[in-house]
Amino acid sequence: MKKKKAMTERYTLADLENWREAARDIDPPIRLGVFGDPVAHSLSPQMQNAALKQYDISMQYGRFHIRANELRSALRFLRELDFVGVNLTVPHKIAAFEQVDETATGVGAVNTIRLRDKKLIGSNTDGEGFLRAIRSEFSVDVRDLRVMIIGAGGGTGHAIAWQCALENCERLVLVNRTLEKAIMLVDRLRPFFAGPRVLGPVARLEAVPWDEAALRAQLQDIDLIVNATPLGMNPSDATPVPTRLLAPHHMVFDAVYGPSKTALVRAADEAGARGANGLSMLLHQGALSFSIWFDRDAPIDVMRTALL
Ligand code: NAP
Repeated sequence: MKKKKAMTERYTLADLENWREAARDIDPPIRLGVFGDPVAHSLSPQMQNAALKQYDISMQYGRFHIRANELRSALRFLRELDFVGVNLTVPHKIAAFEQVDETATGVGAVNTIRLRDKKLIGSNTDGEGFLRAIRSEFSVDVRDLRVMIIGAGGGTGHAIAWQCALENCERLVLVNRTLEKAIMLVDRLRPFFAGPRVLGPVARLEAVPWDEAALRAQLQDIDLIVNATPLGMNPSDATPVPTRLLAPHHMVFDAVYGPSKTALVRAADEAGARGANGLSMLLHQGALSFSIWFDRDAPIDVMRTALL
């Protein structure tokens, strides 16, 4: 009888290049995964593998450490393999948008790829996952909120900003370390905010520099603050918004998730504001990716339990 091999903790570009060898005798076979750098923290494998098991789908979801300069090669190898699809995480979402063969999203960033006839079809489930997370964490709809996104220049920030624009939220303020990227995104989103909604003296859509004076001035007219930077992935990271700028009326959503509270969620606690980390967004975007790959609803309760 053939000896079965267990999946290893993470694979690399070199493994993808020699996939038949690297993945030989792994049972069930790996036909899904997440590409990222860093990727060791990703909880997607435990969540997606629980869903696959629940539906008796005989395949596994693996973790792939792919660096920014390796994405093109990794996607080239993927086209030739018997994969159903992959997720993309930091730092690949924007670069992948340019490299897939077709896109089913206008976001400018891709977090889900489905393979069809050796073609890579890109889509994005982060925006809808974010909406569902905000609804479940704070019992509010984004369309009624004045939103600030910190890290709007990245793949996740783009997806969240795009979704806020589609929802026609009350107000959207984009903040980014590299301000030019936030300004470019504002230009793309302007048509969504051209409607007749009246909001008083503040602009409905703007990009502002990441400095304390600018944040302080803006935060008076903001309900929901979103961290879409990787700050918080390391326990030693500073909070992207200090406690002194937060107020009890704020809702604070950190897209970063981890085993303990991020510095931003702790800052929200200290300020008397409501805070939540990115675990619920992870769940919802993952469930939506599953639906794209398998054309069926994901077993969301099983996936939620797998994340506990
Ligand atoms: P990305 O495309 O690499 O974007 C990173 C963004 O953060 C950019 O705007 C970048 O600004 C900014 N940034 C990076 N390092 C920074 C620093 N040291 N100080 C200030 N700003 C910094 O990454 P991504 O894929 O969007 O992911 C961002 C984070 O969201 C990751 O932690 C990821 O795990 C998390 N995420 C969570 C979920 C979930 O389901 N919970 C889903 C998606 C992503 P510049 O433009 O100036 O470089």
